[in-house]
Amino acid sequence: MSIKQMISAKPLQFTESVIREMTRQALLHNAVNLSQGFPDFPAPPEIKAAAIRAIEADVNQYSITWGSKNLRNAIATRLKTLTGMEFDPEAEITVCCGSTEGMIASLLATINPGDEIVIFEPFYENYNPDAIISGATRRYVRLHPPNWSFDSRELETAFNSHTKAIIINTPNNPTGKVFRRDELEQIAALCQKWNCLAITDEIYDHILYDGAEHVRMLALDGMHDRTITINSLSKTFSVTGWRVGYVVASPELSNAVRKVHDFLTVGAAHPLQEAGAFALQLEPDYYRVLRAKYTERRDMLLAILTDAGFRCHKPMGAYYIMTDIHDFGFASDMAFAEHLVKNIGVAAVPGSSFYRESKDGNQQIRFCFCKRDETLQAAGDRLRRLRKK
Ligand code: GLN
Repeated sequence: MSIKQMISAKPLQFTESVIREMTRQALLHNAVNLSQGFPDFPAPPEIKAAAIRAIEADVNQYSITWGSKNLRNAIATRLKTLTGMEFDPEAEITVCCGSTEGMIASLLATINPGDEIVIFEPFYENYNPDAIISGATRRYVRLHPPNWSFDSRELETAFNSHTKAIIINTPNNPTGKVFRRDELEQIAALCQKWNCLAITDEIYDHILYDGAEHVRMLALDGMHDRTITINSLSKTFSVTGWRVGYVVASPELSNAVRKVHDFLTVGAAHPLQEAGAFALQLEPDYYRVLRAKYTERRDMLLAILTDAGFRCHKPMGAYYIMTDIHDFGFASDMAFAEHLVKNIGVAAVPGSSFYRESKDGNQQIRFCFCKRDETLQAAGDRLRRLRKK
């Protein structure tokens, strides 16, 4: 057997992340990076100070595997404020290395061979490899532009007796859709009808526009015990490199997630968890300012992209703009993204990385706007050089 043949069938079924590759391309070509979604502005100084304090106080060893008590308590208190519901930090909250680990640990903890999961498409890139790694069979439900609505019949037919879970990402990456209450209620009814789980990735729950409301699946009737909610400090507090996320689920589910998490990673960085406990106690004003700033950035990038000739889907949440590139006359999103990064000097994510069939995303490009005004303006200056067909 050659070394190559020793590779498991699993990684052979997916490629490296296109999103993260685009960041490497941006560095290589000295391009303005509007691809991978991470802020280029500083994290709040008081949160950084809390992390420094923790290291100086010698919080430098493992926390207990499912998360520092302070952070789990802070998450429970925050959830109480947001939902009015009580969550037991000792049994229902697990801290992990980013929501990325939260998702794969949740799937590994629940998926058996033959189990199916339902995924909305376009989807956040990770969910496909997550499904392959955990051994789940995927069923897709399409989100249709311009509103990224789904067809109720299509959703219903995606469920059957093999369905173990549906993954919902709201506010949604890459589309900016915020699932409405009636949509989530439809999904909740199907989860109850087919006795399956809702795994909700709510990492953008505080990044909302134009009065959009974030509805939490775990608070809907009959969903408390069958919802696994995944969240993180990354987007809310602009600390994507800290890798501190968490999973909220009923004690039985949490117990399984905790075991997988323990043997995958043992735990997230302890001093950063303590800083997270501090961050989660910030006043409501923090979240108001966060929204206001992101609204300004969204509007700025919408204007820049529209000016440059893109047809934009205005996001209601999260920090990405999906665009339609038909007017530029490129054969594919890959060719267009390559032209953008090499010749124009702006990195963005090719739409095909959010679809199972590349043809479905081949006239779409995703830009992120979690960037300083200067960065967005620099991208704008460069994008003006683009020519329409
Ligand atoms: N969520 C971000 C994006 O979609 C970055 C994800 C990551 O690279 N971990 O761009």
